[in-house]
Amino acid sequence: MSLLVLSHNDCLGHRPPDGHPERPARLEAVLRGLDQLHDLQVEDARPVTRSELDRAHGPNYLDKIESLDSAGQLIALDADTHFGPGSLRAARLAAGAACEGVDRVLSGEAKRVFAAVRPPGHHAESARAMGFCIYSSVAVAALHATAAHGLERVAVVDFDVHHGNGSEAILAGNPHSLFLSSHQSPLYPGTGQPDAPHADNVRNAVLPPASGSNEFRDLWLEHLLPEIDRYRPQLLLVSAGFDAHWRDPLAQLQLKDDDYYWIGERLVELAKRHADGRLVASLEGGYDLKALEASTLAFGEALN
Ligand SMILES: [Zn+2]
Repeated sequence: MSLLVLSHNDCLGHRPPDGHPERPARLEAVLRGLDQLHDLQVEDARPVTRSELDRAHGPNYLDKIESLDSAGQLIALDADTHFGPGSLRAARLAAGAACEGVDRVLSGEAKRVFAAVRPPGHHAESARAMGFCIYSSVAVAALHATAAHGLERVAVVDFDVHHGNGSEAILAGNPHSLFLSSHQSPLYPGTGQPDAPHADNVRNAVLPPASGSNEFRDLWLEHLLPEIDRYRPQLLLVSAGFDAHWRDPLAQLQLKDDDYYWIGERLVELAKRHADGRLVASLEGGYDLKALEASTLAFGEALN
C-alpha cells in the first residue's frame, strides 16, 4: 500500500516576514520531493477541531489565537513566531492533517501517512506559541489517538535537530504515550538534556555539533530504537524535521539524505512489528530547500 500524503494549498498562506527561514517555499520543496515517489496519493488535509486542540492547549491560549485572526495584520507571537491573515487557517490544517492521519491509519484506509504541512508544531506549548510553531500538531494527534480512538500506547518520535519541548511538555506524564527525541545540544531551545529532570514517559538523547551519520545512527540504535521496541506502540507518530541535514542553516549536524531513508526504514520496521504498520509523520523543520526536497524524498521512499 502506498503512502498517503495529506497537505493543503492554504498551508502556503502562513506568511512570516520576508527573510524568515520558515517560509512557504519549504512546503513546495517538500511536495517536489514527495512527488517523485511512485503511486503517491495526495489528499487535502482537514482543519483541526477546537475539541481536538483543547486536549493539548489551554482555553485562554486558543481564544487568543482565534481572536488574533480577525486583526488581519502580521504580528509577532514571540521573537521568531509570526501570525498573519493566513496563519490560523494554516495552523488548523497542520494540526488537522496529523489528526486525520491518525484516523486514516486506525480505520485501515492507509498504513502510512505523511502530513506535508506548515507551520511546524513541536515547540508550541500548552499556553504559548514558540519557535515558528502555533499548535503542537503531533501532540494534538497523539492525544487524539489516545482519547478519541482509545489507544493505550502511542510512541511520539522526534528526529528534528531541535528538541521538541512543546510535545514533551504536553505529553509529559501521559500514561498512554512515550516521547522520544534526538537533537543537537547545545542548540535552541536548550531543553531536552538527558540528565535533566523529566517525566517517566520521556526519552531524550543529544548529539554535539558536527555529529554526522554514524553518530546519529548509533544514538538511535543504542538508545532510542530499543526503547520503542520495548514499549510495543500501537501507533508511531513522527515529528519529521529535516534540519539535521548538513546543508541546513539553523544547526550544525551533518546528516545526509540517506540518513532519512535509514531512520524511516527503522521506524517502519518497528511499526510493522508492533503497530500493524501504522505510522503517521508530520513535517517539522528543515530550512535548506534543496536538502528538504531530497530528504523528504528519501524519508518518503522508506515509508512508501
Ligand atoms: Zn527544528
